[in-house]
Amino acid sequence: MRILVSGAGMAGLSAGINLGALGHHVTIVERAGHLRVNGSPIDIRGDAIDVAGRMRILDQIRQRRVTMTARTRFVDAAGTVLAELPGDEVGDSEDDIEIPREDLAHILHAALDPATLLIFGESIQELHDDGDGVAVTFLSGREDHFDMVVGADGMHSLTRRLIFGPEREYLRHLGFYVALTNLPAERGGEPGNPILNWPGHMIGITRYRDVALGVMNFRSGWIDYDYHDLEAQKQILLDAFAGHHEWQVPAILDAVRDDPELYFDSVSQIHMPGWHQGRVVLVGDAAHCASGLSGRGASLAITGTWFLAQALRAHPTDLAAAFRDYEDNQRPHVTRAQASAGPGGDLVVPATQADLDMRNARLRAAADH
Ligand SMILES: Cc1cc2nc3c(=O)[nH]c(=O)nc-3n(C[C@H](O)[C@H](O)[C@H](O)COP(=O)(O)OP(=O)(O)OC[C@H]3O[C@@H](n4cnc5c(N)ncnc54)[C@H](O)[C@@H]3O)c2cc1C
Repeated sequence: MRILVSGAGMAGLSAGINLGALGHHVTIVERAGHLRVNGSPIDIRGDAIDVAGRMRILDQIRQRRVTMTARTRFVDAAGTVLAELPGDEVGDSEDDIEIPREDLAHILHAALDPATLLIFGESIQELHDDGDGVAVTFLSGREDHFDMVVGADGMHSLTRRLIFGPEREYLRHLGFYVALTNLPAERGGEPGNPILNWPGHMIGITRYRDVALGVMNFRSGWIDYDYHDLEAQKQILLDAFAGHHEWQVPAILDAVRDDPELYFDSVSQIHMPGWHQGRVVLVGDAAHCASGLSGRGASLAITGTWFLAQALRAHPTDLAAAFRDYEDNQRPHVTRAQASAGPGGDLVVPATQADLDMRNARLRAAADH
C-alpha cells in the first residue's frame, strides 16, 4: 500500500518503521523543518520495551538510557532547600527505561527503511477519502493519492480535526500548562534538580548528562491561542511568571525569550470512542494523548503503531478489520495510561500556600524516618 503518515514525532517515526517493515511504501510529512528533538527525557515502559525489542531498537535505546539520579529539591526564593523528593517518588525502575527525547527520535529516524520518504516543512491541507483511497492536498500545493493515511500529528492533530471534527470534542484539559526551554548557560552546572514554587506555579531546572532544561508548570483554565504561534506561547508563559525576580526565575525567562524550540502546551488528554474512519487512522497523542503526567506517551506511540502494523499484516485486504484489531489491542494500554495521570500535578504544583507547606512538611517528615 501507499501510506501517508502525518507527523514525525515518536508515533509517526514508529509508524514509519513498523509499516515500512511490512513492505508498504511510506511517506511521512512533518510540519517542522527538522525533527523536533527537544523536550525532557521520556520513558519506555512495560510492553513498549518488548515491542522495541521486536523493532530491533532496544539495544540502542538501552545504550542511550539516562538514569535521573539527581534528586528533585524544592527550594525557597534564596535557593535554600526546603524539602526533597525521595527516589521512589521519581519513578525509576527496571521496567522503565528513561531516554532523552532527542536520542529516541534519532534512533527511530535511523531505523526507518531507506525507501521511506520523510518530507520536512510539509503538512496535509485537505483530505478526501473516496472509498478507494485518500486524495491529499498538501500545504505546498502538491496533490497525491494514498491507500491509507495515518494521523500521527500529536495532541493538536490536524488529521483528527479534518476527519473527526473539532479538537474540543476530544480534548480534556487537566488544569495545567507546561513548558520546557533549553538553558545553554547552565550546561555542565551543579548536579541537582531544584524547583521553586509559589501557589499554582513551579519553575525549576532539570539536568541529564551535560544538558540543563528550564521547566515551568502553572495552573490555569483553558487558554485559546494559535498552537503554531511561538511568540504567543512565549507571551502566555512570560505573563504567567511575571513579577517574580527571585532565584533563577529571570535567567530561565530570558532563556524562554531566546529559545527558537520552546516546548509549551496544555496538560491535556485526548479521549475518543474510536480512532479510525474509512482509510484514515490515528496513532499516538493524536488518538489518545495521556498527558505528560502519565509518563507513557512514547510507550503508547510505540505499542500502538506496532499493533497497527500487526493488524494490517493479519488483515491485508480488510482495512476496517485491521483498524478494529489495532484498537482492541491498544485500548487497554491507553485506558491504564490515562488513568495513571493523576496526582503528579498536586505534588509538583500545589494550588495554595497551605498545600505547599503541607507537601514540604510531609516530605521532611518522610526523610526523617
Ligand atoms: C517538541 C516536543 C517536545 C515534547 N516534550 C515532551 C516532554 O518533555 N515530556 C513529555 O512527556 N512529552 C513531551 N512531548 C510529547 C511527547 O513527545 C508525546 O506525548 C509522545 O512522544 C507521543 O508522540 P506523538 O508522536 O504522538 O506526538 P508528538 O511528539 O507531539 O509529535 C507530533 C509530531 O507531529 C508534528 N505535526 C504537528 N502537526 C502537524 C501537521 N499538520 N503536519 C505534519 N506534522 C505535524 C509535530 O511537529 C510533531 O513532530 C513533546 C512533544 C513535542 C512535539
